[in-house]
Amino acid sequence: MTCAPPAETVAAPLLAWYERSGRQFPWRGLRDPYPIWVSEVILQQTRVETGLRYFEPFLARFPTVQVLAAASEAEVLAAWSGLGFYRRARNLHAGARLVVERFGGEVPRDPELLGELPGVGRYTVGAILSAAFNQRLPILDGNVIRVLSRVFLVEGAPDRAAVKRELWGLAEAVLPHDRPGDFNQAVMDLGATVCTPTGPRCGGCPLVDLCRAVAEGRTADLPAPTKRAKVVFEQRVAVLVQREDGRFLLRQRPPSGLLASLWELPADEADEDAAQQAAEDIADGFAGGLLAACGVVEHRFSHRHWTTRVFRARGGDGYEAGPLERWVALAELGELGLPTVSRKAIEAALAAQLRLI
Ligand code: SF4
Repeated sequence: MTCAPPAETVAAPLLAWYERSGRQFPWRGLRDPYPIWVSEVILQQTRVETGLRYFEPFLARFPTVQVLAAASEAEVLAAWSGLGFYRRARNLHAGARLVVERFGGEVPRDPELLGELPGVGRYTVGAILSAAFNQRLPILDGNVIRVLSRVFLVEGAPDRAAVKRELWGLAEAVLPHDRPGDFNQAVMDLGATVCTPTGPRCGGCPLVDLCRAVAEGRTADLPAPTKRAKVVFEQRVAVLVQREDGRFLLRQRPPSGLLASLWELPADEADEDAAQQAAEDIADGFAGGLLAACGVVEHRFSHRHWTTRVFRARGGDGYEAGPLERWVALAELGELGLPTVSRKAIEAALAAQLRLI
């Protein structure tokens, strides 16, 4: 049995590696918390490659928190189109308005005040304030969890509250006093590029001499799997937005993850109570209006169950499809990778007129 490395020994080799091998992103090195906040919100539930395509156009459109606060929700949603999970954009927009109303347009430096903004949890507080102001605040996301679980041989599943507490404690203990912002970014980069979920490249890792998982031959076991076998029930809305010429909009899903790169109707997460509002929000993004609620589509994946409330809307005539979007005619559906769940939703939306073959 090996002993855990002293927490303070992690920073030096990791920071030296970061200087050589850290990733370059347009938000790195910025000291203005607003663009860092935008980058963090964009990257929630979004691959870095995708987020990079949206970050600069979004900031060009909304260069300051004041400009974002003054924008209409439709403008913000239009800029967000294709990124999905529109609640993120609505939270960011509402947060910008609060910053202007309550804090005179200055993103708060106080972690508690910052954490009161919608959609800003402990991770996001740490990410923004450590990067912008070098505040010594930890972060804990999937990458950080993986690195810490392996280096310190944390055995329990990270979704258990006690294990999560232990990991937050470690994330704080390893933080150096002088460069916490760089350190947080370094550990995220290590998790994303070296200490990967499968096949970590331990030979090129700056922490290999400290890592307990390597010493005990346990890298493949850690972090312990979360309760993945349990079916996760998710409630969604999907909206068939149709133009005057009959074409309707489909969006391509991200290149990894569930239904990677397949096409679907514009959708968002929302339970039954919030479904109508979420559908209206999506329709608003196309300057459109809802026409009908078209029923509920149930679809089971291996460990996931989607309940999708389908709506139909008219709109989008002045809306130009983004890089991951396409206005399609029914006859063109065969040219696209269309998963069953999307086909069911389209059928439900069009059922009053015709059925897909
Ligand atoms: S030595 Fe291997 S398992 Fe340990 S932190 Fe580095 S990449 Fe991850």
